[in-house]
Amino acid sequence: MNNKEKVMLTGVRPSGNLTLGNYLGAIKNFVTRQKQYKSYIFVADLHAITSPRDPADLRAAIDDCMAMYLACGVDPEQTIIFRQSDVMEHGVLGFIMTFQTHMGELSRMTQFKLKSQSMGKHGIETGLFVYPPLMAADILLYNTAIVPVGLDQQQHVELTRDLSQRFNKRYGKTFDDPDVYIAPVGNKILNLQNLSEKMNKSDDERNMGTIFLRDDLKLARKKIMSAVTDSESVVRFDEEAKPGISNLISILAATTGESIDSIEKRFAGVGYGDFKRAVADAVCELLAKIQANYARFKQTDVLNAILDDGATKARVVASETLNRAKLALGLK
Ligand code: AMP
Repeated sequence: MNNKEKVMLTGVRPSGNLTLGNYLGAIKNFVTRQKQYKSYIFVADLHAITSPRDPADLRAAIDDCMAMYLACGVDPEQTIIFRQSDVMEHGVLGFIMTFQTHMGELSRMTQFKLKSQSMGKHGIETGLFVYPPLMAADILLYNTAIVPVGLDQQQHVELTRDLSQRFNKRYGKTFDDPDVYIAPVGNKILNLQNLSEKMNKSDDERNMGTIFLRDDLKLARKKIMSAVTDSESVVRFDEEAKPGISNLISILAATTGESIDSIEKRFAGVGYGDFKRAVADAVCELLAKIQANYARFKQTDVLNAILDDGATKARVVASETLNRAKLALGLK
């Protein structure tokens, strides 16, 4: 099978404005490979309602996510772009996959453990608990071979593989096993102010640790210049001892494609101020490009036409897979 017959798929939840972490950890890796695969990217809107949302905010976030995909270089000529909730099969297969999943597996998911801790014992919604089987359905519906995601989603793609194998063993070969693709650099961009957390799109707009793709360039520069570092003045990659500088090196490497080695050599003997200025220049150049594209793509009629076309194409494949699963289960 050549790569063009293999399927690549990824998605982003419209749960806030997209961050540099979303771009470097997932979208960029999708965009650079979209020509090599049969590619699908979706707006994971069902995943965005696992906790209550203001409907107007959600609508705006969905349009925003779509426009951002295009602005970041997702090409509708190469890639099927759709909204998850437009393809009903996601819900049905998600329900089916939930029954293949053990409570223990879901309880062990790091994301669940982290988020449920911050929600407190009484306020944990079941959506947060059962979203991995819905994610499994998202992936399995398209016979996906490769899923480019950030490090925080690796465990969920691995669970998808386990669920696919479990289903196939019980009911006969129905699904293809997906592989996760984690970029070697930029797979976990940390909050610039709080290095124990990743950069998150649910962070407050004024959070100085999070670079949003739509940040004013002056503000983005200020965020990088005020990033937490350490008391040395050596630009060296060491995630344990120097998490702040290592994070900035990762950002520069993932943004420009320069290797970590080469960055260390180039900045030997250079102070943190000048190093940060170089990171800010690279990030601002990237943001300026994305923002110029974003302004062009934000027209809703263009987005709607792309989404309608994408949903029509996605439904064909999704309904075939769901049919196969129903036949295997004895529901047909
Ligand atoms: P989410 O923001 O959870 O909808 O994630 C969308 C995609 O971005 C997923 O593939 C995540 O793994 C990835 N991602 C989110 N935050 C980061 C981050 N700080 N660094 C790298 N990848 C990230």
